[in-house]
Amino acid sequence: MSDEIGQNFGTIKAAIKAASLLGGHPPANLIAVSKGHGVDQIRTALEAGHRLFGENRVQEASVKWPQLREQFPGLELHLIGPLQTNKVKLAVSLFDAIETLDRLRLARALSVEIEKSGKTPKLFIQVNTGEEPQKTGVLPSGLASFFEECQGLGLNVSGLMCIPPVDEEPAMHFALLKKLGGGLDLKEFSMGMSGDFEVASSLGATHVRVGTAIFGPRR
Ligand SMILES: *Cc1c(COP(=O)(O)O)cnc(C)c1O
Repeated sequence: MSDEIGQNFGTIKAAIKAASLLGGHPPANLIAVSKGHGVDQIRTALEAGHRLFGENRVQEASVKWPQLREQFPGLELHLIGPLQTNKVKLAVSLFDAIETLDRLRLARALSVEIEKSGKTPKLFIQVNTGEEPQKTGVLPSGLASFFEECQGLGLNVSGLMCIPPVDEEPAMHFALLKKLGGGLDLKEFSMGMSGDFEVASSLGATHVRVGTAIFGPRR
């Protein structure tokens, strides 16, 4: 199993590099999504030299990561799942980046906590590019004004994140995210998962979020 994880990293990084270069972009950063996997599997990835990880639940991350962080310096941990305002304090203490900034109430809570803690997590606004009612994220039409409100709160937004609808061609959603971000002069784009990280890389993702293709199926 541990050999397999190491091999998967090699294969996926090579594929990302090829796809990014093909699109004329620097290689996207690989966020290893470790949600649903235990500390042993994460440790294997860390021992293989990987340092960039994603988790979708604050609570789960708070159990798994504090000790690993002490043992493996240089870690970068991204929150890629929804953030409730009552977990903002814990999230800011745990994560180096929050990719799911999606509403004003959360922006306000983050602004307060960032000021209080002195920590400055990297922030991505999540965009609901497919305009799916069941999905979180800012609608494309509301992005510019939300971005301005975040700036008004003193939040330093670095980029955008999206999760395309499962039944649609992801490429058009990735292209839309790039276009929206370009209009706001944003430079970072978290897009692409196990099934479509190459497409995302070729379209200029700076971060791809890959779980299953590295660690296998989740329990
Ligand atoms: C789980 C998850 C991923 C990784 O999905 P895989 O298909 O396992 O690669 C990426 N992004 C988000 C937001 C996720 O919740």
